[in-house]
Order: sequence, then C-alpha cells, then structure tokens
Amino acid sequence: MSQKYDVVVIGAGPGGYIAAVRAAQLGMKVACIEKWRNPKGEPTLGGTCLNVGCIPSKALLASSEEYEKVRGHLGEHGIAAEGVTLDLAKMLARKDAIVAKMTKGVEFLFRKNRITWLKGHARFVDSEDDAVRIEVTGEGADAAAKAPLLVGAAHVIIATGSKARHLPGLDVDNRVICDNEGALSLSEVPGRLGVIGAGVIGLELGSVWRRLGAEVTILEALPEFLPAADEAVRKEAWKQFTKQGLKIHLGAKIGAASVDGRGVKLAWTDDKGGAQQLDCDRLIVSVGRVPNTDGLGLDAVGLSVDERGFVPVDAQCRTAAPNIWAIGDVVRGPMLAHKAEDEGVMVAELIAGQKPHIDYGCIPLVIYTSPEVAWVGRTEQQLKAEGRAYKAGQFPFSINGRALGIGAPEGFVKVLADAATDEVLGVHVVSAAASDLIAEAVLAMEFKASAEDIGRVSHPHPSMSEVLREAALAATDKRALNM
Ligand code: NAD
Repeated sequence: MSQKYDVVVIGAGPGGYIAAVRAAQLGMKVACIEKWRNPKGEPTLGGTCLNVGCIPSKALLASSEEYEKVRGHLGEHGIAAEGVTLDLAKMLARKDAIVAKMTKGVEFLFRKNRITWLKGHARFVDSEDDAVRIEVTGEGADAAAKAPLLVGAAHVIIATGSKARHLPGLDVDNRVICDNEGALSLSEVPGRLGVIGAGVIGLELGSVWRRLGAEVTILEALPEFLPAADEAVRKEAWKQFTKQGLKIHLGAKIGAASVDGRGVKLAWTDDKGGAQQLDCDRLIVSVGRVPNTDGLGLDAVGLSVDERGFVPVDAQCRTAAPNIWAIGDVVRGPMLAHKAEDEGVMVAELIAGQKPHIDYGCIPLVIYTSPEVAWVGRTEQQLKAEGRAYKAGQFPFSINGRALGIGAPEGFVKVLADAATDEVLGVHVVSAAASDLIAEAVLAMEFKASAEDIGRVSHPHPSMSEVLREAALAATDKRALNM
C-alpha cells in the first residue's frame, strides 16, 4: 500500500474539509480525496457549497439586491439615481472571484493543517482489521498519466455530498435548462424565466433573476407553499414574494417540454386540472437533491444505500462498516452545509475518543430571499400535532426603529415556548438579516433558555435584535414593552 493515514475523508465540501481540519487539529494524519474541477479545469476544493451553491448564490443575491435597491428603493431616502445600468458579466466575475478566494482559502487550510489533498476519484477496494483500502484515480487531463493510487486508512469519512435531482424528459444542459450550476451563470438576463420547484433554490435564484429584470414563473408540485415552515412564516413569505413579482403556481404537474432556439415550451397542469403552457427563455429545475455515491464502490466494504440513496448511519454518523463514517448530504437529515460541518467535527472528535454531541433539533434553516426566512426548532403546527401546551409571542419589524431606519420594516419574529416551563421550543423569523438574527435563537435553544431569559438579556438599541427580545417577552406572558 503506497500511502497510509489515520483518517481519509472522501469529499472536500463543507462537511469533508471541516472534518479533515478538525481531525488534523486533533493530531491525526489526514488525507482528503476530492475530484472537483472548476470551469477552467483546475482541481478545486470546497464542493458544491463553495463552487456552485451557497457562496456564489449569496454573491448574486447581494449584487441583485443592490441593483434593485438603486433602481427602486433609494428614492425614499431622497437619493435619485439615473442611468443605472447592469453589467452582468462583471457581476458574474465578482461572484467567480469570491468563489476563487474561498476555495483557495480551503487549500490554505489544508496546507496549514498538513492535510494531504489527493486529487481524483475515490473507490473502496476492501477493508481489513486495521485498514480500509481506497483506490484514487486521476480525473480529467492527467487521467491517462496516473496509475491508480492505493491508500489505506484507519478511519474513512464519506462526505460525498449530493447532486441536483433532474426530471425525466427535461434534459439539463445548463444553458437553456439549468440546475443550480447553470442558474448561477446565465450569460444574459432571460426575459422570461421558468422555475420548477418553489423550494430554497427556486426562491433564491428566482429572486436573483427577477431583481435583474426577468419575469419569473415558479411551478411547485405541492399544494402548499413552504410546507416545512411555520404557518405564519408561510403566509408572510408568500405575501412578500408575490408582491415583489414572483408568480408562483402551487399544485402544478409538470408535463412534456420542447426546446428550440428561442427557449422552452413546458406543458403543465394547474391545481384545477387545467392544461397550461409555460413559454420561457430559460428554465431552472430545482426539485431537490439526491445523495451522491456514484462509483464509490460501497459494496466492496459491505455497505449499501437505502431506498432513497442515502448511506445509512446511526445518530453519531457511524455506518454499518467498522471505522467507516458518513456525514452531510449523503446521510439522513437536512441537506445543509452547517449540518454537514457539525457532523464533520463530531466524527473527527469521536475518532479521537472525545464525546461530542449534536442536537439535531437546534439546526437552523435559512432561505436567503429578501426578506430572509429563518427558523429553528418546532413550528406551531408541529407543537399542536404533538399535543404540547405552548405559548406564542410575535413582534413585527414595522415598529422597530432600526428596521425603519434601514428600510426593512417587513416581517416579524415569532417565539414559541413551553406553556409550563417557558423553555424556547421554536423561533421563526421573516426579516432582513434573519440569517444572523436566528443565531441568537439557536444559542438560546442549545442552552435550553426560557423565553424570559432572552427577554431579560440586554439587547443593543436600536437594533433588529430587539424584535427577538420583544417576541420572547410577548411569549413569556404577553409583556412586550413596545406594543
Ligand atoms: P428543496 O427541497 O428545497 O425544494 C424542492 C421543491 O421542489 C419542493 O418544494 C418540492 O415540492 C418541489 N418539487 C419536487 N418535485 C417537483 C416537480 N416534479 N414539479 C414541481 N415541483 C417539484 O430543494 P432545492 O431548492 O432544489 O434545494 C436542494 C437542497 O439544497 C435542499 O435540501 C436545500 O436545503 C439545499 N439548499 C439550501 C440552501 C440554504 O440553506 N439557504 C440554499 C440552496 C439549497
């Protein structure tokens, strides 16, 4: 065997690279196998999140928000801007530069922590008492030149992530019909953009292109909008997004599509069974993601995927094979970068003999629209279904001085607390910067805080965070101070 490690991580997305860093911090000899190549053909770390997911989408969300602000919202500040133009190529180049900086940052972390980056595709070979053997084959240009490399590891962490789910009959070419990858790099703003799926990607990227000038129509299969969210959040988000101009059709059934030089003609059936046709210049398919285990050779180590393609693991991310772990999108739970990171840290610490713990009930979810949507813990509907006695407090941003000052009066914070103990059970935010505001709620829930605890903590004035405090006071015993 040519190389031997304490830990080999397969995949360098946020789950894998963080697992590698933490294992290295704990004194282990670590390698990470990653085959990703960027559009220039260069090997790249960071996985979907950094290359074609969270990071580039947030760059475009910010750019498009600035564009919309300058065109529509500066007037109320007494600022007139004329002759505003859009240089899409520059906007995309800015996004690409951020991606390059972030992925280079992971390379720096690997060097700093002496993590070996094995560039290529990993496939399990076999597993003996003291080592799992993996073959690494080169990808792309230098594939022919490289003989497979055999590495052995005392522990392996599978962090191979997920890939976009596609629909039969809709061939994703990432030019006319796009998944998340093509949707981040459209060469011009489409006049009419169709989106299939009103989930996180559909809403975020639909918002980006709407702000840049596209007429956006979203077709969602389910009869309800954002069914996992609290009902109050669902209603507010629907109100805000449709007011902004997103056309969202619920209960849509997708039919056949035809593509020609001018775009896509997509047949669909509405919620009343009526035949409809969507004509659009570009179409984004954002109907969820599937775990990625392609060519991994799981059977060589006695593993197989479940009926939905996930690698089965226990609560601590152990697979059925000794010393093989799996984390992130390739295992159960929400497909979120921060959940993958948390699991990466947990597994590295378990391998080191520590006793880490993840509270899966305290993982926040964020949709980076405008306003943003974020929540942690239970919804009111879940509490009702569980028969749990609870109290609810809600406070709007429309009467918060800071929110008015920055021109972001939309939305609210809703706090749900146990009726008897006042323990915070769920926090739901629709607001600008909800992604940051939710962190305080996550911390409170991790510490099993009561709503009164949040209410008694000093919050800076004026700040958006005061709304969380007021909602917590409202939940405790209806004692919000400014309402
Ligand atoms: P999603 O699960 O969030 O949404 C997919 C939507 O498509 C659902 O509403 C579903 O009902 C709908 N759908 C499924 N099949 C359909 C069909 N045939 N016709 C019409 N609608 C259909 O998935 P996504 O938006 O593709 O995102 C993929 C993953 O990436 C998610 O797990 C998400 O959590 C993650 N992600 C997270 C963030 C974030 O944290 N802000 C951002 C982007 C993506």
